[in-house]
Amino acid sequence: MLSRRKLIKRLSSVPLLGGLVGGLPLSSEAAAMSAPKRDLFKELGVRTFINAAGTLTYMTGSLMHDEVLEAINYASKEFCLLDELEDKVGEKIAKLVHSEAAVVTSGAFSGMTLGLAGILTGMDQKKIEALPHLEGTGMKSEVICQKGHEIVYNHALINTGCKMVYIETVEELEKAINEKTALLHFLHIQSDKGKIMHEEWVALGKKHNIPTSIDIAADVPPVENLYKFNDMGFSFVVVSGGKAMRGPQSAGLLMGKKDIIAAARQHMPPRGYNIGRGMKVNKEEILGMYVAVEKFLAQDFAKTWKGWEEGVAHVESTVKTVNGVKTEVRVNPLGNHTPSLRISWDPAVLKVTGKQVQEALRAGDPSIEVGGGGPSSIGVTVWMLKPGQEKIVAKRIKEELSKAV
Ligand SMILES: *Cc1c(COP(=O)(O)O)cnc(C)c1O
Repeated sequence: MLSRRKLIKRLSSVPLLGGLVGGLPLSSEAAAMSAPKRDLFKELGVRTFINAAGTLTYMTGSLMHDEVLEAINYASKEFCLLDELEDKVGEKIAKLVHSEAAVVTSGAFSGMTLGLAGILTGMDQKKIEALPHLEGTGMKSEVICQKGHEIVYNHALINTGCKMVYIETVEELEKAINEKTALLHFLHIQSDKGKIMHEEWVALGKKHNIPTSIDIAADVPPVENLYKFNDMGFSFVVVSGGKAMRGPQSAGLLMGKKDIIAAARQHMPPRGYNIGRGMKVNKEEILGMYVAVEKFLAQDFAKTWKGWEEGVAHVESTVKTVNGVKTEVRVNPLGNHTPSLRISWDPAVLKVTGKQVQEALRAGDPSIEVGGGGPSSIGVTVWMLKPGQEKIVAKRIKEELSKAV
């Protein structure tokens, strides 16, 4: 017996008769499209799930917008010059985000490495090839950052060969500045953990004639954050493309001063013999990112927000009916800016831990991922849900908690 897919394939490969299905001529492409799609996750035995946790890299970030996928598919049908595409898309994005220049990178992390690499080397080919070995090259080698802004992702900066110098006060910063200082780096999502705020950071850079950078990887929305820090005067700004912007998960933006972006590009493919050759972005991701930025800026954010609030309200009102359950909605103003629902319960009433609820939801059908997993609490966000999934999430959480009496 021929499978339907094989049958269609055979039919469409017969000349003249080719692709006559139901009396209508069918192109081989249309025939392929009507063939049953492979369920690759199922074939591989990879669990898929409803994501009520958030934009987490280990959960593959976000789902790309349909328009982004259309751009990716469109791009995949033609060749073009990589540099020409980065030039043209960079110009458009720079206008949209109020920066002198911009480039699509393979994420915020690589944006940090490339931006700093550009600062260190400028357009000097010998210096470009020397990185990450700075000794004896005359290049600067230190990045100053506030202690409260120390996170794992700062590794992107030391990948250039630089070392981090952590300070707390303006006095310490001014004492730390020396002829080796290449950059003053700032982390927006932890700006409340530092003593020096954004404007002052930029002013200190200007005062000492040292470039300033800011990591806003997970910090859009608010929508205006995409251009606010360029307006403020940071020398370069990096953001993730595959978090709330729902562009490709392996893309991001490096935005900033013309000379820095131009030098950063020297560290990127198609050029090799540099530290950025492995940070390749393909034409599909470049166009996908472009469309994602356009879409992100053009959205009616009040409407997006209202949708999130309604989703959270639905989960909240459903789970609250369980005896012993308390809920609280929080919004982090600095990053992952979306209503987040904390569901907690009285352990004397409901004899289950947050981790156990998390695992039960994971093991259920459909599988659901939630955040938190505290001693007697879990966390839920709705911004990565597909329309209607909030109903499933609410129902399943209620079921699991109701069982625990
Ligand atoms: C996610 C994240 C990064 C890494 O971003 P990618 O786009 O995945 O490279 C860097 N910094 C912070 C603060 C982040 O949250």
